[in-house]
Amino acid sequence: MERTKTSPDDVVWRERLQYCEARQPALVKTIRQFVEIESPSDDKPAADRMSAFLAGAFEALGGRARVHPAQEAGNNLQVDFPGREKIKPVLLLGHFDTVYSLGTLATMPCHEADGRLCGPGVLDMKSGIGLMLYAIEALQAWHSGLPRPVTVFLVSDEEIGSRSSRRITETLAKQSAAVLVLEPAAGTRGAVKTARKGVGEYKLTVTGVASHAGLDPGKGHSAIIELARQMLTISKLNNVQSGVSVNPGVIRGGTRTNVVAAEAVAEIDVRIAHARQATVVDRKLRSLKPVDKRCKLSMTGGINRLPMERTAGVAALYKKAQTLAKRIDWHLDEAAVGGGSDGNFTAGIGIPTLDGMGGVGDGAHAVHEHIVISELPRRMLLLAGMIEAI
Ligand SMILES: [Zn+2]
Repeated sequence: MERTKTSPDDVVWRERLQYCEARQPALVKTIRQFVEIESPSDDKPAADRMSAFLAGAFEALGGRARVHPAQEAGNNLQVDFPGREKIKPVLLLGHFDTVYSLGTLATMPCHEADGRLCGPGVLDMKSGIGLMLYAIEALQAWHSGLPRPVTVFLVSDEEIGSRSSRRITETLAKQSAAVLVLEPAAGTRGAVKTARKGVGEYKLTVTGVASHAGLDPGKGHSAIIELARQMLTISKLNNVQSGVSVNPGVIRGGTRTNVVAAEAVAEIDVRIAHARQATVVDRKLRSLKPVDKRCKLSMTGGINRLPMERTAGVAALYKKAQTLAKRIDWHLDEAAVGGGSDGNFTAGIGIPTLDGMGGVGDGAHAVHEHIVISELPRRMLLLAGMIEAI
């Protein structure tokens, strides 16, 4: 392999990496603290405890915390850091809610094993919040203060659709130069995410006519049979090539085997690769007609998150990240993924967004959720470098 001569810049970056490596034990300890404060999306008191704890952690670095109270979800947390240059801030976006119910720690305790830190929400995405904290601290140490303003926004309800936080996320993104999302990296190689599919949730309710299955079978109009017919039609909307997928993941209906079912329901997950597909799929789902004319169909729901598309702004951010990574001989990959995040909102309104800047690991939302500890220093360096470079 051909090697270029080490420029002074590269020396600086190596020293910075050493700084990040030296901070690794403290960062792990902090992430552990975050994991050990359980914060399920649907438990306001628990989520509020996490929000308050995080406010304290970021205020200790000189940030100005602003709590956005939410009625049902936990309070969303904004922290503003002033910078030396009077330019637009970079928005660091993340969420502190998890999919794990209160008490999960009892069976899934946070622990270190084989170079991994395991525990509920450690990958998705409490390690990402830890990285924000330590990247800001590093920049302050390297520059005796932040070189540019930074806004941190930590959402309480990302795992359940971001209803209480979406408007704030979009407002803050509009005021920012770019958005870095600290969701987990893609795969074990730690790729950043430059495209995400859009996500929709729909519910189809079929109302039929009940009757006695034995005495009056002809009088009934089965909602279950009708739902089954509709499912076949809906499944034809799947198109792997164009990136559209439609999954009726839950169905229920009927009351007893000897009753022709009066009602049946399907809950449908929809994914799209391009914004223009949203209206097409939505129209098709809403215009379904019953095959049995005595049955009624009602479709509710919609596309919740538009796709994060790989726009020129997104590609430019990735290029910057790649250049930075190269300084420490790191080949940083990019990935397009099917899952949505709040990055979909910010990219959807045209603000350059780079996602998957957080921890590297596996098992998000599962019992084996973990991060790889040795990946933390360079992720911290990358984040700090991006805040500087944007
Ligand atoms: Zn997440």
